[in-house]
Amino acid sequence: MHADAQSLKICILGAGMGGLTCALGLARAGFKDITVFEMASNLGFVGAGIQMAPNMARILDRLGVWDDIFKEAVVLNETSIRQGATDAELGHVDLKYIKETYGYPHTVGHRSTLAGELYNGCKRESDNIKFVFATTAENLKFEPKPSFTAVPRSGEPYQVECDILLGADGVKSNTRVAMLKELNVEADVKDTNQAAYRIMLTREQMSSDPELLALIDADKVIRWIGEKRHIIAYPVSRKQIYNISTTQPDVNFAAAPSATYTTKASKKAMLEVYGDFCPMIHRMLDLVPEGEVCEWKLRVHAPLPTWVHGSVALVGDACHPTLPHMAQGAAQAIEDAGVISVVLAALPSGATPADINKALKLYEKIRKERAETLVELAAASGRAMHLGEGKAKEERDRQFAALKAGKGPVPDKWADADVQKMVYGVDCMKIAEEMVKSELNGA
Ligand SMILES: Cc1cc2nc3c(=O)[nH]c(=O)nc-3n(C[C@H](O)[C@H](O)[C@H](O)COP(=O)(O)OP(=O)(O)OC[C@H]3O[C@@H](n4cnc5c(N)ncnc54)[C@H](O)[C@@H]3O)c2cc1C
Repeated sequence: MHADAQSLKICILGAGMGGLTCALGLARAGFKDITVFEMASNLGFVGAGIQMAPNMARILDRLGVWDDIFKEAVVLNETSIRQGATDAELGHVDLKYIKETYGYPHTVGHRSTLAGELYNGCKRESDNIKFVFATTAENLKFEPKPSFTAVPRSGEPYQVECDILLGADGVKSNTRVAMLKELNVEADVKDTNQAAYRIMLTREQMSSDPELLALIDADKVIRWIGEKRHIIAYPVSRKQIYNISTTQPDVNFAAAPSATYTTKASKKAMLEVYGDFCPMIHRMLDLVPEGEVCEWKLRVHAPLPTWVHGSVALVGDACHPTLPHMAQGAAQAIEDAGVISVVLAALPSGATPADINKALKLYEKIRKERAETLVELAAASGRAMHLGEGKAKEERDRQFAALKAGKGPVPDKWADADVQKMVYGVDCMKIAEEMVKSELNGA
């Protein structure tokens, strides 16, 4: 990279998976003036697990943080899709082929480990990356340079101006709202009318129940499905924690959820929602201590007309929030960050705002269609899993039966080999390097 491009001032709003990976990727690409503004007072990641698919691992490895994340991860060798009511298996998919085919196994881990190691990676680049916690970015402007008001929780607000601004500020993104306003486009987050309980049980909590212990000991992700609802579960943290995440109609949600769309939920309501699931699932959910049930509103957004305006770009959930059914939300935010690092690293000496815009537009060109395809796939997969009695469910279950006989697609899309090829088999940073040569460097 050209020496003067390295000193461009880059501000990143949000220290989630997208913001942290942008900071790390850009510092490793040679940028020296990166500041991350985060409204929370620390990384503050919820206690929850996360699937770390090969397309995520490949980028984290390039950025030098995968080995430490992998140490604590659990490798998934199989997935089982089961009837919630009976625990009868509908479909089974072997995941062992994934490492051989895509270079990384399909793993699961603890969110705090993933975020923590990204943060540690950033700290190793501390000469080039500065974090400003407990500070919210407001009142964004795009011209002549990107600027915003930084509002610290304590202290006076101050103005910040930069050369490049990345809005990695999540599903409730201020950057997106400001960009759409600037472009005179009306669009808002869409309520999916679905919500999720997220639960972590310790090995100790499960230890007196042999059936539950078998779940945490297996190298398996299980999805139990029923009408309008499902539960997905897998062991994390070297099998010391069993991570459970659910999706159900959003009927029990508190009227005024917090800024993060979460709320304390009632254990009684949760047990009732899964009242017709099998006794083992009941025993499992019943282990959650009273007062520790948390519910998340699941929100998405209609595809945006653009992710880029001037020298400002949106990243991650800010521009493609998704239902979790493909387990790709964070992976896609990390892909965004990987591609941004590559395209900005190609900026010429004396880069002008027009050069920056051209590079960010290339980022959008590489990423937008793919991310939006995955958002739609996640929604479609949810519809297939949540079917009630009727012709469509009969067809879905016929597909599951064909799968058992060794042929046909998997209705649970994330486990389908053709979908996995499209998701895991794409090295988006490599694609970005090739596109930079052909579209920015004119090679
Ligand atoms: C139930 C569930 C399960 C999931 N499972 C998976 C999975 O298995 N695999 C996977 O890849 N993905 C999964 N996801 C999706 C994934 O969690 C998200 O897509 C991902 O965390 C998005 O990262 P982000 O950095 O874009 O946004 P966020 O993580 O939301 O980060 C945004 C950050 O910006 C900060 N912020 C917001 N506004 C401002 C402001 N104005 N100024 C400063 N800071 C601000 C916020 O405090 C936050 O820290 C799941 C999601 C859910 C709901």
